[in-house]
Order: sequence, then structure tokens, then C-alpha cells
Amino acid sequence: MRVLVTGAAGFLGSHLAERFLNEGHEVIGLDNFVTGSRDNALHLSSYPGFRLVEHDISNEYYFDEEIEGVLHFASPASPVDYLNLPIQTLKVGSLGTHNALGIALAKKARFLLASTSEVYGDPLVHPQSEDYWGNVNPIGPRGVYDEAKRFAEAMTMAYHRYHKVDTRIVRIFNTYGPSMRPSDGRVVSNFLVQALQGKPLTIYGDGSQTRSFCYVDDEVEGIYQLFHSERTKPTNIGNPNEFTIQELADIVLEETGSQSPIETLPLPDDDPKVRRPDISAAKAALGWEPKIELREGINKTLPYFQNSLSQSSESTGTN
Ligand code: UDP
Repeated sequence: MRVLVTGAAGFLGSHLAERFLNEGHEVIGLDNFVTGSRDNALHLSSYPGFRLVEHDISNEYYFDEEIEGVLHFASPASPVDYLNLPIQTLKVGSLGTHNALGIALAKKARFLLASTSEVYGDPLVHPQSEDYWGNVNPIGPRGVYDEAKRFAEAMTMAYHRYHKVDTRIVRIFNTYGPSMRPSDGRVVSNFLVQALQGKPLTIYGDGSQTRSFCYVDDEVEGIYQLFHSERTKPTNIGNPNEFTIQELADIVLEETGSQSPIETLPLPDDDPKVRRPDISAAKAALGWEPKIELREGINKTLPYFQNSLSQSSESTGTN
């Protein structure tokens, strides 16, 4: 099979592309490197079945070759990134999704949309199952990501119903692991980098807000299985074990042995107070559930950040 992965140089896109390559498929990776990393693309380029296209999928693109699958992962995904890139985020979620669906339609390819737990916004129902419609502020700063992804889901379902495109929608919950950028800005990478550098761990607000963290290998396995399944309804893929941000900070300090203090910073606007996936649909349809718990996942991620930080200190002459 030959698949197109948009956002292939990004954190999840690159892991997913690698998964398809390891299964013997060919991958065309498309990225405009706004938040994707050259290192990820370089790593994928070591596979003979990989081809990189440098392009912004918010603008149309035409492929000559046959394509059997389109996986649309292009988008800034860290709140820091999408708050800095609000227009690009709205464009890639709307125009980018339209263009990626257009490729799937033209090629008669299966399409998978990377959606998000952010479609539930600051949820009033807990845990979140797929039939919850969410609580999103359309005009708040996070609206650029949340509404783009909600629009992307609506567009995907329109192509499914009207054009009969074979679609899948995965709602991804907080995922972490190797190949996140150290400057990504999300909480796991921030805390690990801060702990390793002996800098204060920055907790936004009082640290009582919760998230449920999924290790990247579990997330990619769930997405890969969903792509190959017959389930067209949106599907939560995440780890249902829920932690407060304070608990996460404590775990990071324990596992790194760091003496970093805690620094409290203001809570961003509309920061969801709780988040936890109900994964019964994924369990029933795919037989999938995550296997790697938070402490184990943190330990699997640590060497990557240790390595990235030592490389960047070598290149800048700092330590
Ligand atoms: N957060 C934090 N310190 C940080 C980064 C994030 O306390 O350095 C908090 C953030 O306010 C949110 C949670 O951690 O409540 C998860 O944030 P992240 O940016 O990882 O993703 P989100 O789940 O908000 O999309």
C-alpha cells in the first residue's frame, strides 16, 4: 500500500509514517516544517519506501502516483504553537482538510483525520465519550484549534456522506514520547526539559486540572488499528488514567531525581479543567487499549530528551 501522511515531520505524523514503513508500506510524507522537525524527516528518509514533499497542504497539491490511504496529521498541536500560529491553524484544519479529502476522493483512498480531545473543549461531561458534543468557546484563543478540528470532522463526515469517501476520525488525547521538540511547549516535554536542566517546573494555575497521558507507541498502535478497521464513527484513542498536573510534576521529579523547584504561572484562557477519554468504543471495535503507564512512559521518553539537550548544548557551547 502507498499512503500519504500530511504532517509527517511532526511528532505523531513521523511515528505513524514510521509504523507504515515498518509494515512494508510506502509513505509519501508531506510537511511545510512550520512546526515539523527536519530531524524527523531526515530519519524517515533513511527508509527506501519514503518520499518527502515539502508543501503546505492548506494549498492544493496533485500527485501522479496511486495512493491508497491519506492520513491528515498536519496542524500545529501544542497550545503554544497554535496560539502563535492562529491563522495557519485555522487554515490547515479547514482548507488543509478539504485538500486532503480531495486527494482521497480523487485517488479513491481511505482517509483518516487526526482529530482531538479538544473538540470536547472544557468538558461538562466526564469522562468524555464520542457522543458528547463538547463545550467549546468559539471566540477564545483556543478556538482556532478546537473549531478548526470540529470543522475538519464536519468536512470529513460530509465527504463520507456525500462523496462516499471511506473515512476514519481519531480523537487523540494528550500524547507524549520521543521525538517531541524540546521547545514544543506541552506539559510533558516542558516538565522533562525543565527537570533535566534543573530549572523550575512551570505549573499553570494551581495544578489541580487533569489530563490523561498516552505514550506514543500506544497511540500509534490505536490509530493504525483504527485505520485498518471498518469503524467510520469518531473514535477516542487515549489512555484513561487521569492525573492532576501537580501529580505529573511530582512523577517527573521522582523519575528524573531532579531537585527543580515548582513555579506557579497563570492558567491560560479556557484551559480545560478535566480530560479523560472513555475508550469503550475503541476497546469494542478494535480490541485496543493502552499498555504503557505514565511512569514507564516517562522513563522511555527520558533518554530522548537527555540526548536532545546534550546535542543542543554541544552545538551552542553551553552545558
Ligand atoms: N501546563 C502546565 N505547565 C506547562 C505546560 C502546560 O501546567 O509548562 C498545563 C496546561 O495549563 C494544561 C495542561 O498542563 O492544563 C496540559 O497542557 P498541554 O499544553 O500539554 O496540552 P493541553 O492538554 O492543554 O492541550
